Amino acid sequence: MYGCTSFLQGDELGLQNAWTAVTYGFVVRDVLVFAYGLAFGSFLTVVGDRIPQGLSLIHPPSHCSACGRRLHAWELIPVFSWLALRGRCHTCKSRIPLRYPILELATGVLWVVTLHQVPIWPARLAWFAFWLVLLAATATDLSTMRIPNLLSLPGAVGVYGLFVLTHTRTWTHSLWGAGVGFGLLFLIHLLSKGRMGLGDAKLYLAIGAALGPWMSLESFVLASFFGTLIGLPLRWSGRIGAGQAIPFVPFITLGVVTTFLWGQPLWQLYLQWTVYRAV
Ligand SMILES: [Zn+2]
Repeated sequence: MYGCTSFLQGDELGLQNAWTAVTYGFVVRDVLVFAYGLAFGSFLTVVGDRIPQGLSLIHPPSHCSACGRRLHAWELIPVFSWLALRGRCHTCKSRIPLRYPILELATGVLWVVTLHQVPIWPARLAWFAFWLVLLAATATDLSTMRIPNLLSLPGAVGVYGLFVLTHTRTWTHSLWGAGVGFGLLFLIHLLSKGRMGLGDAKLYLAIGAALGPWMSLESFVLASFFGTLIGLPLRWSGRIGAGQAIPFVPFITLGVVTTFLWGQPLWQLYLQWTVYRAV
């Protein structure tokens, strides 16, 4: 009897250990993906500052844009360094933009969310790359109000290739998405007489390739909604002058992320409110 009990206990213990190991493994995996996301996000801030100016991404090494001093290793840790320095250069005390830690955090969080949202690795990698393109465009739009072709066009080709090669989307679905996304924003560009930039339309080539045609439309509707929700109070309060343009890519990113997370249920809800009620 004793032997039997000990055997059972041993087995239970084994199961418990296996369960702990699995949970532990998942936590480690999440932390690693988050850390890599932060590091890539940190690289995006460099992309956002240098690509629009046509500068090299590697040379010169990271330095303060105000006093030119080369940064120490401890000043290059994503998010943490910004917090430790309280958002100012250690030497000249000039401000380090808030968009740096936000972009770093956004990349880390989006990568971990993708890990849980997308079940298989090849597809996750395709989404990881897509978030990088989208957040890099957010970075350049925030720093210079532009999305360079050097980013949007190779970005679109890369995202298209990755989504098709990893079987995340079929090549036709992705192509339709890119066409519909670009077409819609190009039309708005023409109708708005250039107030909606051509850069946004080119960025929608990559977004369409990732989301497909329907969800690209949905993401743009949501982007416009967020733009109005946040832009109007800023305009009313006088923080943005009349006719002053504001970067739109951050709102596009919000729209795309919302579509990625809740695209299907929101679409169902919309149909329930409109079409089904009308029938
Ligand atoms: Zn400085």
